[in-house]
Amino acid sequence: LIELEGVHKAFGDLHVLKDCDLSVAAGEVTVLIGPSGSGKSTLLRCINQLEEPTAGRVRIAGVTQGYAEKPLADGRWQKLPSAQIAHQRSRIGMVFQRFHLFPHMTALQNIMEAPIQVLGRSAAEAEKSALSLLERVGLADRADHYPSELSGGQQQRVAIARALAMDPELMLFDEPTSALDPELVAEVLAVLKELAEGGMTMIVVTHEMGFAREVADQVVFMDDGMILEQGTPDQLIEQPRSERLKGFLASVL
Ligand code: ATP
Ligand code: MG
Repeated sequence: LIELEGVHKAFGDLHVLKDCDLSVAAGEVTVLIGPSGSGKSTLLRCINQLEEPTAGRVRIAGVTQGYAEKPLADGRWQKLPSAQIAHQRSRIGMVFQRFHLFPHMTALQNIMEAPIQVLGRSAAEAEKSALSLLERVGLADRADHYPSELSGGQQQRVAIARALAMDPELMLFDEPTSALDPELVAEVLAVLKELAEGGMTMIVVTHEMGFAREVADQVVFMDDGMILEQGTPDQLIEQPRSERLKGFLASVL
């Protein structure tokens, strides 16, 4: 479903991603690990076009992101206008470390907003689906609470429900539990696990190695902008090859 080919990203002289190749099959869970500054967030941001790769391409379901599906008559590939990029991006759900809920809206309103504004759903339709999503993340009884009235774990579960409300083809999670108190981590990971079991394609940046062992189909280790190792959780976590990965695992396990 997701293919990265030679993705490179530079900010001026700083080469943050170097020739990254990655493929994720539909329904698969990829856990992305690596030290701070290794390029994990940038990789996710290139996948959902918050950043444009300096070189290489990202394809989702065969479609090169940011470009028209077919070349022009002269063979050139044309970049998409921003409205169409926004449309491609709306097919991808993203959840961040910080929950970014709209503070002046209830949990329910937060979830209903984008389906109404972006997909043109009716309020009744959006509410029905938002309520069932709240139920799915275990927050049916918190529909009318404002973010300030919810715990961090609950806010993050609302943020996940809000992303799911757009009916995404895939979900990207950037350290979804690292801003949470330890006792709230499990409830969010349980939602992720259930999503995975439901067949959602996901890439999750996390250092929760228990989650990686239990849920990931593949684990990818990034270091200094490069994908250094990738494989099953068993291969990567139990039998790391590089000294870099061994050192990294020692720091998080
Ligand atoms: P962390 O674990 O701390 O979240 P990360 O692996 O997600 O780290 P990135 O956020 O992708 O790392 O950053 C990789 C490198 O790119 C860092 O050196 C960062 O300072 C740099 N970087 C990221 N975004 C920009 C930007 N917009 N402009 C310049 N440099 C950037
Ligand atoms: Mg990051």
